[in-house]
Amino acid sequence: MPLITNLMNIKNPSKIQMVDLYSQYLYLKEDIDAAIAEVIETSSYINGPAVNKFASELADYNGIKHVVPCANGTDALQLAMMGLELKPGDEVIVPSFTYVATAEVIALLGLTPVFVDVNPDTFLIDPQSVKEGITARTKAIVPVHLYGQCADMEAIMAIAKAHHLYVIEDTAQAIGADYTFSDGTKKKAGTIGTIGTTSFFPSKNLGCYGDGGALFIQDETLARKIQMIANHGQQVKYYHDLVGVNSRLDTLQAAILRVKLKELDNYCSKRNSTANFYDKHLGNFAALSCPQRVGNSSHVFHQYTIKCNSFNRDELKQFLAERGIPSMVYYPVPLHLQKAYQSYGYKEGDFPVSEELSTEVLSLPIHTEQHEEELRVITDTIKEFLTTNNLA
Ligand SMILES: *Cc1c(COP(=O)(O)O)cnc(C)c1O
Repeated sequence: MPLITNLMNIKNPSKIQMVDLYSQYLYLKEDIDAAIAEVIETSSYINGPAVNKFASELADYNGIKHVVPCANGTDALQLAMMGLELKPGDEVIVPSFTYVATAEVIALLGLTPVFVDVNPDTFLIDPQSVKEGITARTKAIVPVHLYGQCADMEAIMAIAKAHHLYVIEDTAQAIGADYTFSDGTKKKAGTIGTIGTTSFFPSKNLGCYGDGGALFIQDETLARKIQMIANHGQQVKYYHDLVGVNSRLDTLQAAILRVKLKELDNYCSKRNSTANFYDKHLGNFAALSCPQRVGNSSHVFHQYTIKCNSFNRDELKQFLAERGIPSMVYYPVPLHLQKAYQSYGYKEGDFPVSEELSTEVLSLPIHTEQHEEELRVITDTIKEFLTTNNLA
């Protein structure tokens, strides 16, 4: 991070940001600096001891047998599909309203992405739409736990079982969330399907200081195979049993993540405090909707995303920006309408919920270092916008 940015933040502590990674670092500075120094002392930058230690600590946290670290969350999805030996022509069901990475790896491996719609209130993959997307060529479903809340995994797993499909849970935004089945069984996000994948991109809920990712796998044979694929298809150096890739988590990143994993639950509860504040102060306006919380999943609020029901979302975004308040649109174009995916033959109108959400959603600043004063400025400014436009 350039020094000038640090100075600006220190001089102007009230500057509102979408995320504040520098303040978060300062809070853990001593431990992070020591962890980084230790890696440099040993100079074991690739597959150093911190990588396995982090993997087993995260496996314990998640209550799953194996965590296979890799280079980023996109690779984690690719490795999952390679490990499951999905072949060109196989169809993989994926929500249209998500980050592009989910569909990108499907296309890259020559598989066919089959887009489905999401629920208008939860933004999560719609099980009924999943059923409609299934054909004789379907091999896998990729539910995305968007914004930090688990998809309807009970329904998805039942569909998968009935049709003999793999389930790859994209947990990049929901690490740490708890899912509760109707019989009371609780599982961590990403440990319910065949494989769970996640990302340690800096702004994710458990972020490192660069790129990083991992897979959560219960099955030992599958975990070993994917571990090999991530490391050039070798178990013994220079003996390549499988065609693999180079996708490893750097030792430095693993060392940083070991420190931050201890804070993850704390980070989740800080994000929930922010969400509660927003709910309380924005929940009573018909013109906008606060995010709906589903009954069977906790929410880790990777994003706090409102829906602008009866006004132009971009006007609110600009109003906020003019008053120094950032906001983001995740995501402005559903995947079935992206240029890169036109060859799959989708058109406007195919997934009306995803299309409508892409014009209505707005994510507000949410992170682990916010103070009530800052949140009040944000909600007061939104109220001012509503009042000014006769929407309050
Ligand atoms: C961030 C993200 C990814 C990709 O992770 P990277 O580490 O950036 O490759 C995949 N899916 C979703 C839903 C994400 O939010």
